[in-house]
Amino acid sequence: MLRPDRDLPPSPISPTVDFDADGVQHGFLRLPYSRDDSAWGSVMIPIAVIRNGEGPTALLTGANHGDEYEGPLALFDLARKLDPLQVSGRVIIVPAMNYPAFRAGTRTSPIDKGNMNRSFPGRPDGTVTQKIADFFQRHLLPLADLVVDLHAGGKTLDFVPFCAAHVLPDKAQEARAFAAVEAFSAPYSNRMIEIDAVGMYDTAAEAMGKVFITTELGGGGTARAQTVRIARRGVANVLRHAGILAGKVETQPTRWLDMPSADCFAFAETDGLFETAVDLGEPVAAGEPLAYIHPIARTGREPQVIRAGMSGILAARHFPGLVQAGDCAAVIAVLMS
Ligand code: ZN
Repeated sequence: MLRPDRDLPPSPISPTVDFDADGVQHGFLRLPYSRDDSAWGSVMIPIAVIRNGEGPTALLTGANHGDEYEGPLALFDLARKLDPLQVSGRVIIVPAMNYPAFRAGTRTSPIDKGNMNRSFPGRPDGTVTQKIADFFQRHLLPLADLVVDLHAGGKTLDFVPFCAAHVLPDKAQEARAFAAVEAFSAPYSNRMIEIDAVGMYDTAAEAMGKVFITTELGGGGTARAQTVRIARRGVANVLRHAGILAGKVETQPTRWLDMPSADCFAFAETDGLFETAVDLGEPVAAGEPLAYIHPIARTGREPQVIRAGMSGILAARHFPGLVQAGDCAAVIAVLMS
């Protein structure tokens, strides 16, 4: 599926950091972007490289979707504080992967509407989003042993805080990923099967044999004190677990979740006013109401009742007060522990 490098032109992105230099570097991935307000302008994507000798490399990213904030909060903080003397190997930090989307506070890029997590392997001669994806695909992922991509629900979803890895055909690779999830120590840990994996950063990293973990740490287009703490502790824990950061993993109890089938997901079939019937983390039995969608065009109409397709806990819900037909209204997960 991956095109051989020789068929592709070089990436237009120039890093201002040296990935092989020891110490702390704060710089940019500079992507030329000529436009009305800046004829010879560039998109300047912040990047930090903290390296101390030989050892494994961790690649840490936030704002793959621009309206998800625990990742940028944890990673700008880590880039500012990480002491190279505590590092064995290398940590590459890109706090806001889809930087134009992050600056606009939107899930996708305001330049090309590109959804970063549907843009892999990218194109060096494509849109801005595709060019960023291509640089990760051909230049950053190959450097990494461990890849951590921090997500949250964004403006339209809210999640119980979990760290996750995918069920993979290579069981040794899968076991390494689940061990990293366990080390992250989020309140919930999730074994995910991806329904639509094409174009995802996750899939690109996993296809290269990397240990890949991700998170969903809340949402609603903001971050909470608790979810930021989980992100900061989790990232440090995973770096310790990988032997890149000195110190012991600070484990916290985690409960494993499974999302076994498409029955986990419930979708709105009408527009209206959204009322959740259960809060995040609360148990729900199959057939019970998860949410009501109240008609808003006139009075006297019954709400649509959204019911649980299986028993479990409410793992995610639609966040805004209004909902549209087709929106993901609720997600159920099964507690395994
Ligand atoms: Zn996301």
